[in-house]
Amino acid sequence: MGFSVLVTGANRGIGLGLVRELASRSDVTKVFAGVRNPVSFPSTNEAPNKEKIQVVQLEISDQKSVDAAEHTVQQALGGSNGDGLDMLINCAGIISGPSFTRVEECDPEEFIKTLNVNVVGTHRVTVAFLPLLRRGPTKKVVNISSTLGSISELGRRYPTCHLIHYNSSKAALNSITRSYAIDFEDEGFIFFPICPGYVKTDMSPNGFLTVEESASNIANLAMKATKKYNGVFYDSVTSKIINW
Ligand code: NDP
Repeated sequence: MGFSVLVTGANRGIGLGLVRELASRSDVTKVFAGVRNPVSFPSTNEAPNKEKIQVVQLEISDQKSVDAAEHTVQQALGGSNGDGLDMLINCAGIISGPSFTRVEECDPEEFIKTLNVNVVGTHRVTVAFLPLLRRGPTKKVVNISSTLGSISELGRRYPTCHLIHYNSSKAALNSITRSYAIDFEDEGFIFFPICPGYVKTDMSPNGFLTVEESASNIANLAMKATKKYNGVFYDSVTSKIINW
């Protein structure tokens, strides 16, 4: 028995940072790095405890890929009578299309692309891994969201339309995370969304935080989360609750 975690979108950015951070921790024994193209996964030569990392092909918008990834992870954990997966971190996400100055400019096709990955893809992965998570003692699912998905901050801290497809995808992600939290509370699951802060990655080259800082904050919050985190939206920089 150890502590196992699967991170989606682990090829670069925050997901890759999380894989490296989690593998460096003594309380984590196995890290599955879910990536679309395993050949392009950066060398783990420099990662501490790289032997804990297993790269798994995972395109979250493709059901066959998700099912195959679930099978691979299950086999690595000992097969149908083996261990469960302790934690799933849904980190894969996109911003599709340009930003806007008015809401009516939002392109429906770009909207669909964004929702398909950020919301439907996350849901697809979660459903597929529920049986393995159920088998583990920890039963944690962390969805990487954003304060841009906070409806109460729209028009106050943030403009109403700037990245409307992305903002609304994260609002929808928050909503389904809370639905999972409610439906699975009786089974002892902990489902919660985390905002990683403004992080310097390909998605946001002007971010203030380094990937390493953000990954460390997220991992700290995710590892220490208890039942009271279920269905609550957290900021991993301040460890404070964010209003929906
Ligand atoms: P990056 O663009 O740097 O990385 C995104 C990752 O998601 C890549 O590994 C990419 O894989 C993967 N990905 C995209 N689409 C899919 C898919 N369909 N299936 C599987 N993997 C996919 O972004 P960040 O690291 O910045 O963002 C990570 C998460 O954090 C996202 O959910 C984002 O919304 C969230 N976030 C980021 C913030 C920031 O400031 N950076 C702020 C708030 C939230 P590939 O390399 O193959 O393209």
